[in-house]
Amino acid sequence: MAASPDYYEILGVARDADAKTIKRSFLRKARTLHPDVSKEPDAEARFKEVNEAYSVLSDERKRSNYDRYGTPDGPGGFGADYVDMSDIFGGGFGINDIFDSFFGGGGSAGGRAPRTRGRDMGITLRITLEEAASGCTKTVSYERLAPCDDCGGSGAAEHGKVVTCTRCQGTGRVVEVQRTIFGQMQSQTTCPACQGAGTVMDHPCETCGGQGRTPSREVVEVKIPAGVHAGQSLALGGKGEAGVRNDRAGDLVVTVDVQAHERFERQGDDLFCKVEVDALDAIVGRTLTLDGVIEGERVEVRVPANCAYGERVRVPGRGMPRTGSATRGSLIAVVQVNPPANLAEEDLELLRGLIRRRRAAAGVEPRDTAADATSSAAREKKRPHGRRRR
Ligand code: ZN
Ligand code: ZN
Repeated sequence: MAASPDYYEILGVARDADAKTIKRSFLRKARTLHPDVSKEPDAEARFKEVNEAYSVLSDERKRSNYDRYGTPDGPGGFGADYVDMSDIFGGGFGINDIFDSFFGGGGSAGGRAPRTRGRDMGITLRITLEEAASGCTKTVSYERLAPCDDCGGSGAAEHGKVVTCTRCQGTGRVVEVQRTIFGQMQSQTTCPACQGAGTVMDHPCETCGGQGRTPSREVVEVKIPAGVHAGQSLALGGKGEAGVRNDRAGDLVVTVDVQAHERFERQGDDLFCKVEVDALDAIVGRTLTLDGVIEGERVEVRVPANCAYGERVRVPGRGMPRTGSATRGSLIAVVQVNPPANLAEEDLELLRGLIRRRRAAAGVEPRDTAADATSSAAREKKRPHGRRRR
């Protein structure tokens, strides 16, 4: 991995700067460097650098990794309770989207209506099958535009009030005239001074520039109910992007993804698993005890006598819990029959005796039995050990 640049230098802060100082310095730099604002040729590259520096230094875990190891990823990936950011923004959401909305849509010309409500945000949360069975509470850390701490989301500095935008006269749109080889071209774009709202703060809050919201790292607890299915979503009201100047915030939509399990395969609320018995147990029947999907749970599986390979043994009430109900699906054990291991000569002799008796009772020549058994045993001896097992 390439060495990370000096993020402190990029943001112009001391190495022991607190979160608030880092955020202020970042916002100041970001506002002057944003490609829509700055005409400097290297503004875009520097804006990206500032973004990257802030995304590391504003995240406690990444910052401490960076301080200690020189890279935000640290020596061994992410902590257990956190979700990989690439998972969180699985829908393609990233810091650049935050800035697009922060600065009013990246300057894209055309008929976009002013948007002052916060957007919904989506994250994917991956849990184990055991966690899905028992229910769990997960800590999720993500970045969003949150109400500005310094102005309480109003966007106003002291004595500040909302006034009509002078740049667009309150229309939210401005007309740009460009000279091209075809002559003059006129186009309407969203007013860059008010981001289309038509109004601005006469004394805007210095921290948020009058928007009433700033990029912020949020930590929320998500309660996952027992029995949740992969693909189900939970909405955390108001935990998405904050609105402009205290307009309504979006929701955080958490979509659950359940990891594949090494023993259980889920079908609806039922859990399938394999159980192995040897051929003699399959003939006489046997009760097996296995670990269930709920921690500490032991499940008895009664393999019946004369059980065939692939037979299914259902244990009701030991599958996945059903959400919003006290009932559970079934555990379904699929029986695998193995050849009996370690059969001694006297065991074989007992079996031959049994077979002779059964054939005699059925009126079959006893000679055939002995010959079959001997040749089978002789073949067995010639084979190198271990070849019989598949
Ligand atoms: Zn305006
Ligand atoms: Zn503010």
